[in-house]
Amino acid sequence: MLRLPIFQTKTPTNLEELLSAMSESGARLIAGGTDLLPNLKHRLDTPETLVSIDRVEELRHITWDEDARALRIGAGVTLADIAADNEVGEHFPSLVKAASLVASPLIRNMATLGGNINLDTRCRYVNQSEFWRSAIGGCLKSEGDVCHVVPKGRSCAAAMSSDCVPVLISLGATLIQVGPQGRRELALVDYYSSDGIEHTQKLVGEITTEVQIPLPAGESAAHYSKWTVRKSIDFPLLSIAMNFTLSSQGADAVIEEAIICLGVLAAKPKVLRTDKLVGLRFGDEVTASLVGELCFKHGKTLENVPYEADYRRSMLRVFGRRAIRQLADSR
Ligand SMILES: Cc1cc2nc3c(=O)[nH]c(=O)nc-3n(C[C@H](O)[C@H](O)[C@H](O)COP(=O)(O)OP(=O)(O)OC[C@H]3O[C@@H](n4cnc5c(N)ncnc54)[C@H](O)[C@@H]3O)c2cc1C
Ligand code: SF4
Repeated sequence: MLRLPIFQTKTPTNLEELLSAMSESGARLIAGGTDLLPNLKHRLDTPETLVSIDRVEELRHITWDEDARALRIGAGVTLADIAADNEVGEHFPSLVKAASLVASPLIRNMATLGGNINLDTRCRYVNQSEFWRSAIGGCLKSEGDVCHVVPKGRSCAAAMSSDCVPVLISLGATLIQVGPQGRRELALVDYYSSDGIEHTQKLVGEITTEVQIPLPAGESAAHYSKWTVRKSIDFPLLSIAMNFTLSSQGADAVIEEAIICLGVLAAKPKVLRTDKLVGLRFGDEVTASLVGELCFKHGKTLENVPYEADYRRSMLRVFGRRAIRQLADSR
């Protein structure tokens, strides 16, 4: 049995107390703990104090901002609550789908949106017990000095495996960060870096308090698909989020803007260049094939998660094509 290391806990009841507790050295935020606690058991992190957001009500809202025409979701909202919210489902079905595909019902009841956004990167060589890793001498992200995925590489290529992040990026979400330096807003797409060890732009002592998602301006269609071995529990081995702005509602609608975001390639979700799709008919087979080709061409896969990289890459073409076909058929 893997045991947790020894740590202190703090359970602040409001945001001010939470930020104060987070400003102390050795503090680590814990939300649902569904990512953090397994990592502690694997000795990938050894914080002195876990600061829980569980009692901070201010982080548990789902509200409409009429002025900004945006949905605001607090970082402490659980994925189960997002998946069950009718209004979120009506306006952002791809987000509801992503949230409802995470892990299992028990985990979704604990797991929060803030935790999903700040999820640590994953790799087949690091998300293992300390004993397992000692057999290969660790790696750059643990106790070693080499990368087993890119052997001559000098940085870590562990993968961002969150289900909600590619979707939120495709929907143009903004992140609200609060910390000792104050409050700042940044586009979620700019929050991630390509370094699998320091994969976010989170500042010291800073926490995510909220995500804001703009309401689509015109006719739109969004989709999320994830490939896993089993139908539940598993992290994605590939993920594709799409969001199209369309000229009209009908089957002959033309694409005016397309955002396609691929997950689980490396530490930073990959946003594709999609200018070639603009002006094409949404429901055409040619368009579906082009989407598949774009996903394949720009989706460089690595051996950082299970399954051969070449196979995963070829599946990107299949999943990309299928995703837009499903979207078009559902209209
Ligand atoms: C068996 C299993 C299967 C899983 N499958 C999936 C899956 O299919 N898809 C998927 O996306 N995830 C999966 N997960 C991972 C995890 O359950 C989710 O990503 C979940 O949303 C993490 O949220 P949490 O609240 O539990 O985060 P925690 O574990 O509490 O925290 C995760 C990280 O985020 C930081 N953090 C948390 N909240 C904030 C905040 N507000 N501001 C700043 N930093 C914060 C923590 O300090 C920590 O570093 C799985 C986990 C398990 C154990
Ligand atoms: S990508 Fe390389 S350095 Fe990063 S976790 Fe995997 S093996 Fe370690």
